[in-house]
This record gives sequence, C-alpha cells and structure tokens, in this order.
Amino acid sequence: MSDLLDLYQEVILDHNKRPRNFGKLEDADHSAEGHNPLCGDRLELYLRLGDDTIEEVRFQGSGCAISKASASLMTEAVRGKTVSEVEELFEKFHDLLTGDPSVRGQAGSELGKLAVFEGVREFPVRVKCATLPWHTLQAALAGKSRPVTTE
Ligand code: ZN
Repeated sequence: MSDLLDLYQEVILDHNKRPRNFGKLEDADHSAEGHNPLCGDRLELYLRLGDDTIEEVRFQGSGCAISKASASLMTEAVRGKTVSEVEELFEKFHDLLTGDPSVRGQAGSELGKLAVFEGVREFPVRVKCATLPWHTLQAALAGKSRPVTTE
C-alpha cells in the first residue's frame, strides 16, 4: 500500500510540475473562474464543446500542488467525454474523496488516474483543493459567468 501511495504522490508531483493542458484556450466557448479561499487556489478553466462533448479543455491559474495536479489530471480525464459522463465522473471522484469507505473501492476502479487523489481524504481541508477544478468545470458547463468559490 505504501508503494501505491508513493506512486500516487509521484503522479501528483509530476502533474504539479508539468501541468497538462495549461494555458488559455483562445477559441473557448465556455469558461469559468474558481477560487478556494481556504488555500488561495485560483484557476480559470476554458472549454470548447462540440454538441454535447468536451472537445478541448485548458486551464491556467496558481495554487497548491493538489489543486494544480487535480486540474491537470481532470483535463486529461474529461476531454472527449460527454457532459453527462463528466457529471458521473465527478460524482465518483467526489465519493472517492468524501464518500464512505464502502463505495470507495468501487469508485476507485472506474476513476483511472484520478484515483491518485485517494490519499487526500485523510486531509479534509485539501478536499476542496482537489474538487475546485471540478466545481469550476461544472460552472463553465452551466455557463455561469460569476466566479465560483468553494466556500
Ligand atoms: Zn489548495
């Protein structure tokens, strides 16, 4: 188990250091800003939707390693998915971080790389760092123009 946690940590550190899909998306048709005042994480998320599918997604901003790695891994996980698939994925991700242990194992198997955030549940204050990109994604999909906050 500790080997697995080491591996998880490595993935998070790698995505923090070299975030994927980082930068502004010039032809975005949806965007939103997210802010986690507890930690100081800020991010802007950009999307281009084709029909009901996320064709392209990018983000920029600054924050802790967890929030940045979560945004980076999220962009990889949601590209090519439909809006309802993304909602399902977020539900499972949220369960992984906050759900009771009995559903955790199930959720983990469907989350792929996102399972690296399992250790975050030991640090409740960090859960908001990990979910900020997802709340921001939901806001972007809903077309809300007001910044979202985890508070
Ligand atoms: Zn944070």
